[in-house]
Amino acid sequence: MTDTPLPALRTARRVVVKIGSALIVDPAEAAPRQAWLDSVAHDIASLRAQGTEVVVVSSGAIALARHQLGLTRPVLRLEEKQAAASVGQIRLAQAWTDALSRHELTAAQLLLTPDDTEHRNRYLNARASLNTLLALGCVPIINENDAIATTEIRFGDNDRLGARVAEMINADQLVLLSDIDGLYTADPRNNPDARHLPVVAALTDSIEAMGGAPPPGYSSGGMRTKLMAARIATQAGCAMAIARGQGLHPLSRLRDGARCTWFLPAPDARSARKNWIAGSLTPAGHAVIDDGAVQALIMGSSLLPAGVTEVTGDFDRGDLIAVLDRQGQKIACGLAAYAADEARRIAGHQSERIEALLGWQGTDELIHRDDLVLFAKTENTPNC
Ligand code: GLU
Repeated sequence: MTDTPLPALRTARRVVVKIGSALIVDPAEAAPRQAWLDSVAHDIASLRAQGTEVVVVSSGAIALARHQLGLTRPVLRLEEKQAAASVGQIRLAQAWTDALSRHELTAAQLLLTPDDTEHRNRYLNARASLNTLLALGCVPIINENDAIATTEIRFGDNDRLGARVAEMINADQLVLLSDIDGLYTADPRNNPDARHLPVVAALTDSIEAMGGAPPPGYSSGGMRTKLMAARIATQAGCAMAIARGQGLHPLSRLRDGARCTWFLPAPDARSARKNWIAGSLTPAGHAVIDDGAVQALIMGSSLLPAGVTEVTGDFDRGDLIAVLDRQGQKIACGLAAYAADEARRIAGHQSERIEALLGWQGTDELIHRDDLVLFAKTENTPNC
């Protein structure tokens, strides 16, 4: 099927682990399954010891507060879910803090809405915050901001949120811990002929058809949202696994080869995002850069303010700008990490001076390399 080695958690550089409510919350007690959480915290500590950065997308807020608030009907109204999430999120965060601190790890909470992963300015903020937390050795614990999310602006399931987070922080692997050990050709609970698929190289129509209907009860995911997550993640160049989460130490078991389904990154993955940057937007400004910076970009570096000699235009943080060499030739374009006025003030200066110049310390780069598309010098670049 493919010559490239299969993804393996053992080799992950940065992994997002999505954990559903049914794994975290004991329905009989309406409380966190603390022993299971402790085992996951242990697994996270051992992944970090092997050099893998770990971000958790954790459900469970609504499920944790339902009983306490007497909201036991299977389907809740939006405002009841919002109320339950407000109460339950505190308990959920506390459960993670307790479990991780036993392994000398610091939990950090982020509550996101779809806007935070799609709107460029907010996306840059969320990404910078996550990257900083990881650099500081924390374990970010993310959930949807259910308390303020309305129907229209809601992910509704954490499978897709996990995939968006993986895309945002350039994770190389996304693991969806589930009640099943992967994708089957049919529902194995009622079809004895259902066959397990260890690898999915492409999300074809026949694979999509294996999605089925969402499950009853507290979980909002099911196989359908997992396949949607697979599309987002694999298009972003991230491998995704569906693995069984029940039982202690699910991540260590996966790392040691437990059965799962791996969805392989799409071959054209990175170019899809780069095409979006290069083709779908009109630049709102220009940055002229010196020869050293041109060389650095060609070598794959980000654009630092030090190499910028002039900034023109009126753009906001997150807007597209074109990058010109000294002769005025367009050599790249990308998403600015600073607004035009700020970019003008830091142009030509070392990144260490950003705080002194602006009064606050942003990212070191004017355009991060993940947000930058480099053109061949002769290439015709319609929008940039
Ligand atoms: N964000 C919801 C919660 O924490 C769960 C969403 C999901 O189950 O995917 O309760």
